[in-house]
Amino acid sequence: MELNRQSTPAVLPRDELEESRRRQLIEVTIDSLAEVGYVGSTLAQIASRADVSPGLVAHYFRDKDGLLAATFRTLARRVAQRVQARLSLAYTPRGRIQAVIDANLAPEEFDRRTGTAWLAFWGQVLHADSLKRVQKAYQSRTLSNLCHALKRLLPAREARSLAAMIAAMIDGVWLRAALSNWREADSESARALLTAFVDGRLRESAPPAIESASDATVSDRARDYPASITSINPATGAVLAEVRVDGPREIDAAVGRAEEAQRRWAAMSGAVRARVLRRAADILRARNRELAELETRDTGKPIQETIAVDVASGADCLEYFAGLAASLAGEHMDLGPQAFGYTRREPLGVVAGIGAWNYPLQIACWKAAPALACGNAMLFKPAELTPLSAIELSAVFAQAGLPEGVFQVVQGYADTGRLLTRHARIRKVSLTGEVGTGKAVMADAAASLKHVTLELGGKSPLIVFDDAKLDNAVAGALLANFYSAGEVCSNGTRVFVHRRIRAAFLERLKLRTTAMRVGDPMDPSTQVGALISEAHMEKVLGYIARGRAEGAQVLVGGHRVTTGDLANGFFVAPTVFDGCHDDMAIAREEIFGPVMTVLEFSDEDEVIARANATEFGLAAGVFTNDLTRAHRVIAQLQAGTCWINHYNVTPIELPFGGTKLSGLGRENGRAAIEHYSQLKSVYVAMGDVDAPY
Ligand code: NDP
Repeated sequence: MELNRQSTPAVLPRDELEESRRRQLIEVTIDSLAEVGYVGSTLAQIASRADVSPGLVAHYFRDKDGLLAATFRTLARRVAQRVQARLSLAYTPRGRIQAVIDANLAPEEFDRRTGTAWLAFWGQVLHADSLKRVQKAYQSRTLSNLCHALKRLLPAREARSLAAMIAAMIDGVWLRAALSNWREADSESARALLTAFVDGRLRESAPPAIESASDATVSDRARDYPASITSINPATGAVLAEVRVDGPREIDAAVGRAEEAQRRWAAMSGAVRARVLRRAADILRARNRELAELETRDTGKPIQETIAVDVASGADCLEYFAGLAASLAGEHMDLGPQAFGYTRREPLGVVAGIGAWNYPLQIACWKAAPALACGNAMLFKPAELTPLSAIELSAVFAQAGLPEGVFQVVQGYADTGRLLTRHARIRKVSLTGEVGTGKAVMADAAASLKHVTLELGGKSPLIVFDDAKLDNAVAGALLANFYSAGEVCSNGTRVFVHRRIRAAFLERLKLRTTAMRVGDPMDPSTQVGALISEAHMEKVLGYIARGRAEGAQVLVGGHRVTTGDLANGFFVAPTVFDGCHDDMAIAREEIFGPVMTVLEFSDEDEVIARANATEFGLAAGVFTNDLTRAHRVIAQLQAGTCWINHYNVTPIELPFGGTKLSGLGRENGRAAIEHYSQLKSVYVAMGDVDAPY
């Protein structure tokens, strides 16, 4: 199926169409600046890259200066939005300083294209007034964000000097990376150094540490933690609840309670622990509708999903690990007539779970069930965007007879998460979140050598061979991209379709995607609900604009949905991009929204190499009727979780997790037991001790 390179859905209103064109031209300009620099980026060259007439570019931007000033403003606005998005989640002064650092240096924010384009401007700033204004505004915004936060922790003069130092270090890291043609682009180390530097400076000026056994740093303690989280319904913008935030004192107290409770819980037999978990599963099932409605209001996901999957998957998990609790055992080793040995499988102690916002209740259950089955106590922190269902889970456990303190929910932002990962007496942390968060959690956990399970992001391939049953493959691609509005870590967002069936595949895919119902998540007929937040929606729309700018064609969707009541929420139409290449941003980076990229292939070896050419390794799928080929291909795919002729089904019996940057360890299945318990080896002598002394 051939589509016009410039095709934009005809359904877009005129204003949106104009806006979309402007965005597209700006993206092309960023590409051009990154590749050929400021001087090489002429109006004619940019028009030719965008496949439009120079007159059209002039119509939107007047001349080269107008276009480049608009592009620089866009880049600066993007930095400001990234900072704002993180600031809005930080609240505490120390958290706000970190938000500015992370928004500039976190791996997902630090990219060659932006850095090189930015460098092209930096060279011109002194000579062009329009650019000078943008640069000045960017610099003073960074300083003012930092100063505002630092003044809460330091005297004004020190705050100003530290703010200037942090800003200079951030700019320096970008500048050196761009000047060295990205050879010196290690933003992760720079971020860690800068974070340690800031902590060091704050520690020097902070009041003496409060006496406590906790490992929270002095600067953790010096922060003032926000009083509460406001939970919002992303479909309507309505406030759902205010939830109290936990700081160092609350976390210390919770760890103390958990230690006490864990000793009693671990002393119970596996069969007794199993009974509690099974009762909890029954209560979850009995409250399915009520909890599904709560989850839908908190996440924006359609009720038809939460009622069928979220609560049920949590209950399945509790039931499964209840089944294993009574059979946890060590081994006996015969060591000859004079000795034998055995192993005891013991709990780790107090463990922490930190959840993402896409499957809040399910994630809490997937972590709690194996942890509790093994005799641990768990402190669980849900994502601050979805704090509610974990509170209900805690009530469910209490009703099922779980001793107080064995499962506790702590609430807060990333700062509260850090208190868990840095706490010396918490023995393990299991995180579901982004790759950058995973690295930060692992680095923090290293100080106390905690066990770590990381369930992180992905950009998974789904391969459709030419002998596949086409309707199944299309259904698989839909499940792999649009369930939960695409906010699923294992999504198969790179759909590789064999060249011979591409046209037929796209035709059916378009038909079925167009028919999907975007709407009020509480309406049982709605199939696509709201994205989690406005900031996330903007990120997804940004990727869609980037896809267009890079020359991919929108087959379906490609826009925000604002009809009727949906205008107050964050809805994006299911979007399919055709004509994609492996090096496009939409085919490389995790979007975590309803955006599918279709890529063509013609050969088995070729598609395996392309599927593996990613830093991620969470999941993969293959559709083919040739079972030999299916197993041969799956064996070569670098992914922790794979499907043959289906996608995104995750029964509790099968371990789930990633390889490469997608994570460490496994959840579910018997494998999870390994990650929540440890072996003690015991040697038992049956004879006399023969010492050579
Ligand atoms: P984030 O990484 O932003 O947050 C995950 C959790 O970690 C949140 O509770 C967050 O708190 C907390 N957190 C953030 N920074 C720190 C820190 N430095 N120390 C300790 N805790 C911290 O992920 P999202 O919530 O945005 O979820 C989306 C991501 O999760 C996607 O990348 C997705 O692929 C991945 N994911 C992976 C799954 C898997 O099983 N592999 C399943 C589901 C999602 P706060 O909420 O306050 O920021």
